[in-house]
Amino acid sequence: MKSKKQKLNKTYIRSTKCSLKFNNKLKMIQLGILLKEYHRCLDVYIQFLWEIHSHGNKVKNRFLKEEQPVLETFLTARILNSCINHASSMIRARIEQIKFYQNIVDGIEKNSNPTKKQSDYRSMLIDRIMKMKNTPPVLAQSEMRIDSKNAKIVLDPKTKSYDLVLELHCIGMPKFNLVLKRQKHFNKLFENGKLLNGVTVTSDYVQFNFEYENKPNLNNKSIGVDIGINSCLTTSDKEQITTNDKGKPYHEIMNEIVRKRKGSKSFNRKLKERDNCTRYCVKKIKWNELSEINIEDIKNLRKCKKTNKIRRHWNYRYILDALESLSEEHNVYVRRKNPMYTSQRCSSCGYVDGDNRNNESFKCLACGFATNADYNASINLSQELYPLKRSEIPTGRKFFWDCSGYRLSGEKSEAPLLNKKDIFI
Ligand SMILES: [Zn+2]
Repeated sequence: MKSKKQKLNKTYIRSTKCSLKFNNKLKMIQLGILLKEYHRCLDVYIQFLWEIHSHGNKVKNRFLKEEQPVLETFLTARILNSCINHASSMIRARIEQIKFYQNIVDGIEKNSNPTKKQSDYRSMLIDRIMKMKNTPPVLAQSEMRIDSKNAKIVLDPKTKSYDLVLELHCIGMPKFNLVLKRQKHFNKLFENGKLLNGVTVTSDYVQFNFEYENKPNLNNKSIGVDIGINSCLTTSDKEQITTNDKGKPYHEIMNEIVRKRKGSKSFNRKLKERDNCTRYCVKKIKWNELSEINIEDIKNLRKCKKTNKIRRHWNYRYILDALESLSEEHNVYVRRKNPMYTSQRCSSCGYVDGDNRNNESFKCLACGFATNADYNASINLSQELYPLKRSEIPTGRKFFWDCSGYRLSGEKSEAPLLNKKDIFI
């Protein structure tokens, strides 16, 4: 299977949080004062930059001191500099987000005959864009982003009880240290990555960031991966990855979640078990052999499918994040594909018919190809098909679809389709 020219970053970032719970009350009060003042200044900067943006001017990456508004504060110029960069990155993220939604809206508007679902989705997005354009971003919790100018990471502190210290200095108040303990995740990242100077400090934890170099990917193998509620992951390599490290199936955990009372301790434990299972499954993909994975691009999960009890607890986004995170580590390209007809199309002859699928089993009504439904979907994802538009097919019409085009069912000409038989248990 061919692999597209890849556009990947040379490096990627991984983060970990270390708890501040070992610090005494006095330090926490000091930190509280600092965070509060930082947040107050951040708000001023956000307003200032939002004004710049609203007048159609570009919000820069970095600001010189003389370009900044004058603030009455005990914070030093150094820390204010970090603060305004923080504000600027928040606004630029907001602008990107608006662009992203606008692209989807434009896409729907290009379609001359959108479905009701698409029109509803479009109006919902337009509302959201309007709200985002009218109000500047706000920071949900007080967090401070600082670098080596104000925070020194000490990896071999003199204190015996702690193996990690963050020295806060030049902050406009007496300098003080925050004591921390390196946990397993920190050590794992520290072993292979480069610890970066920039940290994020909140009232509960300090987040450290590590930079990793991407290894070149010399593989040339592309697979399709179906993400499902029943089997978690199914690959076009005929692999169903569906159990956790103890051999417990993903769907069993999902069933258990439904039976628990929402918000109870055991419910939350089950959610954790589900996420652990997900991570375990994602790790089991043979990343070292791959150059590309193809997955369904489900943009609006809640809207596009009926929500039943189990589906409500499906951690689709989490699975996606885990897939993207590992693909980044292995330098594997993730291609998101339109999920249209993925579950209805026969991966063997290309026949598309809703009746081909019956829950977990797939049986093609045209050629008889029979297999597991998720496996069939994953092969569909791995195939390079003609870019079909939904509007090209009359509603309810059955058809054949392959790499070169489509043919409505019942027409005489032969389907120019692949014909490999494959049975999956
Ligand atoms: Zn078929």
